[in-house]
Amino acid sequence: MLKIYNTLSKRKDEFSPLNGGFATMYCCGPTVYNYAHIGNLRTYIFEDLLVRTLSADMPVKHVMNVTDVGHLTSDADSGEDKMELGAAREGKSAWDIAKFYEKKFFEDFDSLNCKRPTVIARATEHIKEMIALVKKLEEKGLTYKTSDGIYYDTSKFPDYHNLVGRAHIEGLKTGARVDFNDEKRNPSDFALWKFSPKDKQRQMQWDSPWGVGFPGWHIECSAMAMKYLGDTLDIHCGGIDHVAIHHTNEIAQAQGATGKQYVRYWIHGEFLIMANGKMSKSGGGFVTLDTLKEKGYSPLDYRYLCLGAHYRTQLEFSYEALTFARNTRLGLMDRIAALKESAETGAKDEAALNAAKAAFKDAMDDDLNASKALAVLWEYIKGGACAGDKLEFIKYADGFLGLSLLEGEAQKPLPQEAQEILEERKAARARKDFKTSDELRDKLSAMGIAVKDTPKGQEWRWK
Ligand code: AMP
Ligand code: ZN
Repeated sequence: MLKIYNTLSKRKDEFSPLNGGFATMYCCGPTVYNYAHIGNLRTYIFEDLLVRTLSADMPVKHVMNVTDVGHLTSDADSGEDKMELGAAREGKSAWDIAKFYEKKFFEDFDSLNCKRPTVIARATEHIKEMIALVKKLEEKGLTYKTSDGIYYDTSKFPDYHNLVGRAHIEGLKTGARVDFNDEKRNPSDFALWKFSPKDKQRQMQWDSPWGVGFPGWHIECSAMAMKYLGDTLDIHCGGIDHVAIHHTNEIAQAQGATGKQYVRYWIHGEFLIMANGKMSKSGGGFVTLDTLKEKGYSPLDYRYLCLGAHYRTQLEFSYEALTFARNTRLGLMDRIAALKESAETGAKDEAALNAAKAAFKDAMDDDLNASKALAVLWEYIKGGACAGDKLEFIKYADGFLGLSLLEGEAQKPLPQEAQEILEERKAARARKDFKTSDELRDKLSAMGIAVKDTPKGQEWRWK
């Protein structure tokens, strides 16, 4: 059974679901006003490892939101809505921006072999639930109105400091960690509903009991998480940056409204950083998965790199480290290819196989120690087990690692020139020009690429 570090208890806790049979899990999804960068994607890879590890023991109901409105340039409710900024930047509507970057996000997500969540919830499709939650908080006397919105009075929620620590919240009062707003009663108070500005036409806005406007970013997650998973969730995940503001505010909203514990296990992933500092979406100049692909890396090289660093330690990105991850992964794929082609028929050793599986799972169950699990995999593959046992073990391990180890895709990607030759060859075969097709096959062969014609079309592999 999984033991996982819980930001709330500040120790590794044994996981047991509230509802005996299955686990409930909510992950903060992307703000879709720009491409996801590889830092964002590191967080989704760690969450995917968690889903896969838990799924080995029980079904997981996994909800992820898409923030397509309300996330302001400062997490603490000041500045402009990132969606409207994206729209102005690209001369498109905010709705089109959201649609475009959401689609792009899931392309990245899929190519990294992250399992699709059970529910994907867009903020703009849950305004009704958000308004209902704000109304509940209002009825409980936890809110107040300012000239620009409805705010949560955090002084009325005594457990406000629980996740991040009292010292941090006290620090807000003296320091300048949140933007100054004259009308706020306490520095940590935050917007639940914002009024549309009078001097500017917003593209995304809705009617509410308080006037036309849009939801605060924090209320989005509490409302959608509770709609799909109930008042008390087992797990809530996100990047480490969400602890102090976003998740702290989510707790205040949910527990303020229901009086029940909101989340039992808060799990946070550390940041990916660059040698010259933080990687930030709004700061620009960030690295995307497409950048890596253009440089000839597979998304799975990046996944392999992430698996090598524990999710609770910072990972400094470098192309040297990524190249090392790629070479290691390709080395693994070569060994697996050889195993698949091996004619060797050694004796099965069920006991040793089960022991290796148990050691692998123990590593994953120990706070998702994927690098240790990878070491178990390498050791077993290099050891004396028969090819059949090794392949069975690889299949088991890949259920956790998500590296497509048995699917062969993971080979060195094709250079552009070879891709073009394959396309030309496809066209030649379609017009039954077999002479050209054979010549192109020879050309590919000289580049180290073998092509086979199958009923599904041509298939290639590195020789
Ligand atoms: P966003 O799309 O900006 O709302 O962020 C999506 C997810 O990425 C959140 O869970 C963030 O906490 C996380 N995140 C943001 N920056 C990084 C980073 N540099 N490294 C890892 N995770 C990050
Ligand atoms: Zn969230």
